[in-house]
Amino acid sequence: MPKNVSPEQVKEIQEKLKNMSPEELKSFVAQQCLFCQISSGKIPSRKIYEDDDVIAILDINPAADGHTLLIPKEHYQIIGQIPDDFLGHIFVVANKLGLVIAETLQATGYNVFVANGASAGQNAPHAIIHIIPRNENDDVGLMWQAHKGDEQKLDSVFDNLASKLKGLIIKKEQPKQIVYRKEESKEEKKVEKKKRETERKRIP
Ligand SMILES: [Zn+2]
Repeated sequence: MPKNVSPEQVKEIQEKLKNMSPEELKSFVAQQCLFCQISSGKIPSRKIYEDDDVIAILDINPAADGHTLLIPKEHYQIIGQIPDDFLGHIFVVANKLGLVIAETLQATGYNVFVANGASAGQNAPHAIIHIIPRNENDDVGLMWQAHKGDEQKLDSVFDNLASKLKGLIIKKEQPKQIVYRKEESKEEKKVEKKKRETERKRIP
């Protein structure tokens, strides 16, 4: 929001947004979004790839030569909002573009980088996949300072995440379907225990 907007104007905008249908809201957001305007061609860009669903453009403030922004044509704020089957397509495109860009510009590597949220370095309200060609000793600051992990902290984070993700399987052949492992019955647990004990006895 620009700084010169009065509190009354903010209130008026908020009121307007509240009364909009989902379709109206979508088109309002798209009108405000720089990357929606780039993808519709209202704002010119150096487009290096386009298909029905995505475009890839050169970043005008590149981290390195060939820094490319791959964006869905439809407005999504973060990658997490993109449907699975569409996300699959986007990453296939990112993978192919990365190879071609690196080879063409004779880079020795490249990063495929996603920032979700301002704290992660996202500075536009539209989901973007960055493809950044890399070379030895370039000055692209994408590395973090690794430090020795605290064992207790690692354990507590592990417990937290492992219990949350326990039983979650995302099937490869059905990417949209998320299923949960069925709990072992008491009978199955008993059989499993006996099997383990027998195996242990076999060990000399
Ligand atoms: Zn947008």
